[in-house]
Amino acid sequence: MPLVSMRQLLDEAAKGGYGVGAFNVNNMEQIQSIMEAARETKSPVIIQASRGARAYSQDRFLYHLMIAATEIYPEIPTVLHLDHGNSVETCKSAIDMGFTSVMMDGSLMADGKTPSSFEYNVDVTRQVVELAHAKGVTVEGEIGCLGGIEDGHGAGVDGLSHLTDPEQAVEFVKQTGLDALAIAIGTSHGAYKFSSKPTGETLKMARLIEIHNRLPGTHLVMHGSSSVPKDLQDIINQYGGKLKPTWGVPVEEIQLGIKNGVRKINVDTDNRLAITGAIRKVFMEKPEEFDPRSYLKPAREAMKKVVALRMTQFGQAGHAGDYAPIPLEEMARRYEAVAV
Ligand SMILES: [Zn+2]
Repeated sequence: MPLVSMRQLLDEAAKGGYGVGAFNVNNMEQIQSIMEAARETKSPVIIQASRGARAYSQDRFLYHLMIAATEIYPEIPTVLHLDHGNSVETCKSAIDMGFTSVMMDGSLMADGKTPSSFEYNVDVTRQVVELAHAKGVTVEGEIGCLGGIEDGHGAGVDGLSHLTDPEQAVEFVKQTGLDALAIAIGTSHGAYKFSSKPTGETLKMARLIEIHNRLPGTHLVMHGSSSVPKDLQDIINQYGGKLKPTWGVPVEEIQLGIKNGVRKINVDTDNRLAITGAIRKVFMEKPEEFDPRSYLKPAREAMKKVVALRMTQFGQAGHAGDYAPIPLEEMARRYEAVAV
């Protein structure tokens, strides 16, 4: 199966009432972890790369690894998505490379740091929608700003200072014609999301439900949605790490989101924790080892376990065989028909 559009995966998820995890990658082992978890759980899958990941991997390596994934796992509908594109040019370069979905994060200026105006956001997102849809590629936009900074991207504010305004969200979807909308409800990127278990005061699920009620046909996206489980933190600290206590987004809150229009859930930190914990354990227990495979294999296995668990919790498990891929050219024709 060729790489498929994210729009198709999210439309199917909406029909089936489930969510789809979007997992970040930088290298071969992470792609393998996700694809193995997808095969084991029979899940459609979104693999995403940030600008930092594209730079780290020289993104042609990443692209060809993804092509390998479609050859080795032909039964899995697989999306290659650009996470947090900072400009129209960045999104265009991803589309030209063969990404089947892009995020234009116009909630920040092109520096990836300064919160932008609503008009700027509409303008750049609209431009990306035009050039992406002409090729059948999916577009995710963002309204409101997430907390934290990751890969140099983020306003560096706390998660509550730029929450999504439901009224603006409606207007934004109308004016841009995007496929999926990332909203800010108190979450942050990185490992340090909440300093205690989140409550309705810090994680605004009520806001999410309000947005869904006003935009029932829009696929919502939760960013910064690792759960940062204590057992993964403990493994790192047990083997010489120094993580400070931290809390993520509880899985049951994500599941509440999925009942209320959330179709894509971004997870990165949990996988990073799993990988690092597994590597630290080998280094500590077998200091004589120096073959990179001796620690990369357990790291890959640890990440696969986390991904498979999330796929099951989000409900995408079992749905890989539900549908045949719609070619991007056909997606482009559909967008054109709606636009006319
Ligand atoms: Zn994000």
